[in-house]
Amino acid sequence: MIRRKGNLYVISAPSGTGKGTICAELLKDPVNDFSVSMTTREPREGEVHGRDYFFVTREEFISNIEAGNFLEHAENFDNLYGTPKEMVLKKLERRHNVILDIDVKGGLQVKKAMPEAILIFILPPSLTELRSRLEGRGTESAEKVEKRLGEALNEIRLIGEYDYCLINDDLDSAVENIRSIMTAESLRVPESVRQIIRKYEQEV
Ligand code: ADP
Ligand code: 5GP
Repeated sequence: MIRRKGNLYVISAPSGTGKGTICAELLKDPVNDFSVSMTTREPREGEVHGRDYFFVTREEFISNIEAGNFLEHAENFDNLYGTPKEMVLKKLERRHNVILDIDVKGGLQVKKAMPEAILIFILPPSLTELRSRLEGRGTESAEKVEKRLGEALNEIRLIGEYDYCLINDDLDSAVENIRSIMTAESLRVPESVRQIIRKYEQEV
C-alpha cells in the first residue's frame, strides 16, 4: 500500500459563482476538510467565527503576516484574507484532503509555495447569471456587488494558470465533476514513488 498524505485543493471562482455552496457539499465527505481563513471583513448574518472565518482586526491580521503565519494572503474588496499555514499542514499530515476557498491571487501563491496543490477554477454560466446570483444572495450592498462583478473578468483571465476548470450551471453536476477530479487525483502515482524507482535505477 502506498502511504499518501491528503491532497491540497484550491477552489477559486469569481465571487457569487457558488464556490461556497459547492465546498459545503464536498465537505459532507469526511475525507475532505476545510481551511478556515482569517479575514478583516465583517461577518455576514449567520457566519460563525472559527467555522466560516476567523474574523480579526486589521492590526491582528498584520501581526499574523509579520509572524509568518500565512500560507498565502491577499487583499480583496478592501479587506484582507489569509490562509493559516500550520492548520493546513497538520490536516494534510492526517491524510485529509484540504480545501481552500480562496481567490486567484491566493491560489497562485499557494501553487508557488506548494507545487503539488491542485487548482480548480469554477466559472459562472455567464456574467449576467453571476450578477443575478450575487444580487440573489443579498449579502452585499449594490456598490459592493458592482465591485465584485468588476473583479470577475480579471479573475477569469487567469484561468490558464489553473489545473482544472468547470462551469457551475447545474449545482449537482458541478459537485460531481469536482468529485471526479478528486478521485482521479487520489489515484495519481505519487512523486515519492518515482523517487524510490529512480534510486534503484541509479544502481543498474
Ligand atoms: P461564492 O462562495 O462563490 O461567492 P455562493 O456559494 O455564496 O458563492 O453562491 C452565491 C449564490 O448563488 C447563493 O445564493 C447560492 O445559493 C447560489 N448558487 C450557487 N450555485 C448555484 C447554481 N448552480 N445555480 C443557481 N444558483 C446557485
Ligand atoms: P467573501 O468575502 O465573499 O467570503 O470572499 C471574497 C473572496 O475572498 C472570495 O473570492 C474568497 O474565495 C476569497 N478568500 C476567502 N478566504 C481567502 C483566503 O484565505 N485567501 C485569499 N487569498 N482569498 C480568500
